[in-house]
Amino acid sequence: MLRPATSPLRPPVAAEGLDIPLALPRIDLALLGGFRFQCRPGCGLCCFAEPAVTAAERHQLVQIEPELEFVEGARGWAFLTSRPNGGACELLTDTRCRAHAARPTPCQQFPITVHVSDRAQASLVLSCPGIDAAGILRWSGGPPIPVGPRGLDAELDAADAEWVRSGTERELDRHAIRRGRSISLHDLAALRAGLHRELPWPVDEDFPSEEPPDPSDGLAGLPVTFVPGHGRVAFATHAGGWMLFELSEVGDEPGTLGVIPPPTATPEVTTQGEQLLRGYLHYLLERDDAVEGVLAQEAPEGSVEEGLAADLIRTAATVLSRASVLQRLDGRDGALDAADLWEGVRATDAEWLDRPTTGRRF
Ligand code: SF4
Ligand code: SF4
Repeated sequence: MLRPATSPLRPPVAAEGLDIPLALPRIDLALLGGFRFQCRPGCGLCCFAEPAVTAAERHQLVQIEPELEFVEGARGWAFLTSRPNGGACELLTDTRCRAHAARPTPCQQFPITVHVSDRAQASLVLSCPGIDAAGILRWSGGPPIPVGPRGLDAELDAADAEWVRSGTERELDRHAIRRGRSISLHDLAALRAGLHRELPWPVDEDFPSEEPPDPSDGLAGLPVTFVPGHGRVAFATHAGGWMLFELSEVGDEPGTLGVIPPPTATPEVTTQGEQLLRGYLHYLLERDDAVEGVLAQEAPEGSVEEGLAADLIRTAATVLSRASVLQRLDGRDGALDAADLWEGVRATDAEWLDRPTTGRRF
């Protein structure tokens, strides 16, 4: 089914303690347009997480698994626990959720995430290998003509339901967002348009890119991606390059796949590979979550435009580096093509979102 480019208009919600009712704005769905999604059997990547649960969801889950443990969070929220050594959520067995029918909202709406700032904007967690690359290729020349999303109906229904359920709270949060610097929506749109016209691009001096974290700080904090033939592969810093680990679902000691040096200069890419990376950078520029990160900097260096450009360059260098390392893990070398770059995007994207898989918004 083809959806309109915004979710249905939501009914007004009375804000407790305020004189005026707040009408919930529609969720902007433009960043979902043109993508296709089908969950990949045997993946389980999104379950290497500690999803947030409401009190009602918690109640349902303990009916199914009375021994289930939770981490207590602020404002009545709780989180499911994950296993040691970067293992998966306690409810995952053989890449299947034992409480699928009662899984919490972040799991129901994944790979959709909704970021709230000047608007409520749905975005896709491109780390999910169930999303195909065609959607991001539509962006290679800049923001494409908006179309409704396909194949995400159940996930969008869950996101809509969550928006209605917690909308008032989120609306109040929206006004409480603290920014290190302010910029009008008009100026922000003009700034984005300028960067779309002249997309920042990394040069040799931007390599080697940022290092992944040290594994001694905890395997759960490492960037992780799904690699066919290996499973969930995590990147960590190492004296000889980047150490790659295969994470175990049940939290056993992870398997080591080897140490691969990241590129020290801009890797060669094919024309299609460049188009895919361009598409991703254009997509990031329109993602409010990515822009908010720059606006929220408390001690910014340079202008907002310079901050955004620097972030895009840093991300592009990370994508290229991870694509290159994964290509070598696969026993190949040579120019990175679109498939390699898509692997690099998938290995990088979750780091740009405030709630990649866990729903830790509050
Ligand atoms: S990451 Fe995507 S493909 Fe993998 S299990 Fe989750 S929804 Fe399915
Ligand atoms: S509760 Fe969520 S994160 Fe945990 S196994 Fe089920 S779907 Fe995965």
